[in-house]
Amino acid sequence: MTQPTYSIVIPIFNEEDNIHEMYRRLTGLMEQLDGSTELILVDDGSRDSSLSIIRELQNFDNRVRYISFARNFGHQVAVTAGLNFVCGQAVVVMDADLQDPPELISAMIDKWRQGYQVVYAQRTSRKKETWLKRFTAYVFYRVLRSLADVDIPADTGDFCLMDRQVVDVLNAMPERNRYIRGLRAWVGYRQTSVKFERDPRFAGKEKYTFGKSWALAISGIVSLSRVPLRIATYLGMLSAAVALLMIFLMVYWRLFDRNTRLIGYTLIGVALFFLGSVQLFCIGILGEYIGRIYEEVKGRPIYTVKEIGGVVPKPTVSLHKSQMM
Ligand code: UDP
Ligand code: MG
Repeated sequence: MTQPTYSIVIPIFNEEDNIHEMYRRLTGLMEQLDGSTELILVDDGSRDSSLSIIRELQNFDNRVRYISFARNFGHQVAVTAGLNFVCGQAVVVMDADLQDPPELISAMIDKWRQGYQVVYAQRTSRKKETWLKRFTAYVFYRVLRSLADVDIPADTGDFCLMDRQVVDVLNAMPERNRYIRGLRAWVGYRQTSVKFERDPRFAGKEKYTFGKSWALAISGIVSLSRVPLRIATYLGMLSAAVALLMIFLMVYWRLFDRNTRLIGYTLIGVALFFLGSVQLFCIGILGEYIGRIYEEVKGRPIYTVKEIGGVVPKPTVSLHKSQMM
């Protein structure tokens, strides 16, 4: 196969019931596109029959290529690996569960042809998701926007199209903490959005547990903002102010209200708890950053590959030795 025009990257973790339907809808779409397309399926250490289904697809369709991880590394890492291996001029990233409608890709390509280098899909609604998920997502994206150094559009996920140039920049970023939608906003270039309604999952259960979503949220904030570190300074100022107030109160009571019982244990108790919690809170924030520095300096590969299938099995970036088979 000559170099494809389009690459579609799909992270897959235990999606045996979705792969055939996804492939069916994508092939329908690929027929209509104005250029050749490759599908890069990234098996993120699935424990069901996903990998054998992927191998089968690859066997009879040479547009399909796949990378299979040696274990589960998480959604963001799977997308990162996919981007490492793509050959296309325009690269689409989408989920395997058909929550991201493949039909939107044509609209993204139109924008790309108009000269945009990043076209991200922006949700106007989320069908059939719990109110809790909708509410936390709503709050999180607004908090992130107010904290981050770059302007991250609200209600966008990883579903997007990126130009080769952007993908090359992302691939050249050495950091292990991959918050793709944040890095994608950070790079700049000409960006635009297409609006869509997020469909419910086609089959299977959501792979993002509350714990994983929480970890992703923290990783997003820590990777894009240093504001939380400053919170320590502000809290320090606040507790100093409170301490000052207490000193004034004590002087006042000593001079004008000698019989009060408020001095003493109450004050000590309040001060103790107040300072204790402020300090623990700040240590926690420091810990988030230091933990990430530790992850980065270890310099381990971001993922390990157990199997690669399809033509041109060469990654487009130089990988760590253990990332190869
Ligand atoms: N996924 C993955 N590794 C994981 C978790 C999820 O590759 O550890 C994939 C999953 O197969 C799907 C996509 O990431 O294609 C999004 O996952 P999910 O639908 O659970 O997340 P949500 O729709 O809630 O964002
Ligand atoms: Mg989903």
